[in-house]
Parts: sequence; C-alpha cells; structure tokens
Amino acid sequence: MTEIKDYINEKDYVVRAIDEKAGILAFCGRTTMLVEKARTIHNTLPTASAAFGRLLTASALMGLMLKGEKDTVTLRVDGEGISGTIVAHADSKGNVKGFIGNPSADLPLNEKGKLDVSGIVGNSGTLTVIKDLGLKEPYIGQVPLISGELAEDLTYYFAKSEQIPSCVALGVLVDTDSSIKASGGFIIQLLPESDEKAAIYIEEKLKEIKSITQLIENHITPEDILKEILKDFNLKFTLKHEIQYSCNCSKEKIESILLSLGKEEVENILKTEGMVELVCNYCKKAYRFNEEDVKKIFDNN
Ligand code: ZN
Repeated sequence: MTEIKDYINEKDYVVRAIDEKAGILAFCGRTTMLVEKARTIHNTLPTASAAFGRLLTASALMGLMLKGEKDTVTLRVDGEGISGTIVAHADSKGNVKGFIGNPSADLPLNEKGKLDVSGIVGNSGTLTVIKDLGLKEPYIGQVPLISGELAEDLTYYFAKSEQIPSCVALGVLVDTDSSIKASGGFIIQLLPESDEKAAIYIEEKLKEIKSITQLIENHITPEDILKEILKDFNLKFTLKHEIQYSCNCSKEKIESILLSLGKEEVENILKTEGMVELVCNYCKKAYRFNEEDVKKIFDNN
C-alpha cells in the first residue's frame, strides 16, 4: 500500500548525464504527473493524450537542454491528421505547457496493440522547433514529419536541423480509466568528439531496451534507465530538475491579446455578449472583461 502511495507522490523530473570521454550526452525524464495534469486540463481522449503527452515530454527534456535562464523552446506539430496542430512549450526551469487542436482525436489501437499516435497526427506535414534564446530573432528549425509517431520525427529533426546524431524515445501509457499510468522519455546525443563505437553500441543496446513506458510503469527511475541503456559508459549525472505542467498567463498578457483584437472587434463582442471572455489556450483559465475594463485598457494603451 505504501509503495503505491509513494509512487503517486513521486515527482516528475529530468536528469542529465554525460560521458565526456566517450562523447555522450543524455537526458531522461518521468512526466507521468505532468501529462496527467495536461489530460485533465485539456480533457484529451487516450490517443490524443498519447500524442500530446509525447510532445510535452520532448519539450520538457529539450527545455532542460537550454542554457539561459530565460530561454524557451516550443515544439509545434502540424500533421494533416485529425489531432490538428499540437504545441508544447517549455522553459529552462522545468515549466511545461501546451495545447492540442482536437483533444477528442481518438482511434482504435494500431496493429501492434499501441495507441495510434501517427494515425491521429498524420504523417505528412511539419515539425517546427522554435528556440527563444534571448537573441534578436528566435532560432527556428523545421523538418517534414517522417512518421508522425513523434520520437522518430524528433530524431530526424536533430539530425537534419541541428546536425546532432540522437536517439529519442517518448512514451505515454494510458490506463483503462483514461488517466495516465506512465509517461516519460529520453534523448541521447552523440557529441562531436564521440567515436563510431558509441553510436553502434547505443543502436544495439536500444534494440534490447523495453519500452520506456514499461520501465517507468515499473518504477525504474530516470537515472536507472540511463544507467541501464548506457551501462558500458562512465556516466556522470550533472543535473536533476523537477518538471511540471504550469502556465504563466496573467491578466496583463491576456490584455495584450485583447488589444491586438482591435477596439472595433472588442466593442462588437461587448455589444452582443455584454462582456468579453478570453480563455488561455494552455491552462483554460477564463479572463473576463466588462465595458469598463475594456475602456480602461484601450484608453491606457
Ligand atoms: Zn494560462
């Protein structure tokens, strides 16, 4: 009994490990609670939960790859499937948020008995990575979707856009009551100084590894997952960081959206609705403005 309870209270986190000599950098994280929170906010059905959860997991890992305190990363998948656009956004402090065009996108299990993520995402379209590193212009990398399963697409992105040979695994296990049972992922990258042996070893090793969700479901920690996959390497753990689903929207931010709609449009809404309600895409919090609020906002800007 205690064991189950402890597991529920286990916080999500990401670890970073490096073997400088072999030229390997690895990130691994558990995102079960994060994805469960996303599911309850966005009310996603199982296949949508899996697609959305995988992208959120990838963004959580990539957020902790960022170096600057204010840096952020946004992953955007525009497949041509029924899920619509999926967006995941993370900062370098472990805050992750996102949205999915169609939270009700759901399909029967695929022929492998797995949630049919590529079936709802589609396998044509694009994956876009936007990194805001505090420079004048954000870094934007875009690749065509090659599978729609998302981990393969990210592997392709790292190779094509960043020229970094990588191995990406992302997984979400949905329980029979539609809640998230286990979720997590890892990204292993070969640094420029790595040798060919490392690449071959990892490729071979990955074939033996059980699915990431199975490992997480069995309470294997992110540290132990990396130690297992990279058994023959001399891993040094250099970071352990909590991650969570969290939105930083505020009245001020939503006011700027209101302003961007233009006075005429806002007054039209006021006339028909009596007030203006804007809902945050990421956390579904509703912000309401009456006539007086609207007047103040437009007068002061
Ligand atoms: Zn919000």
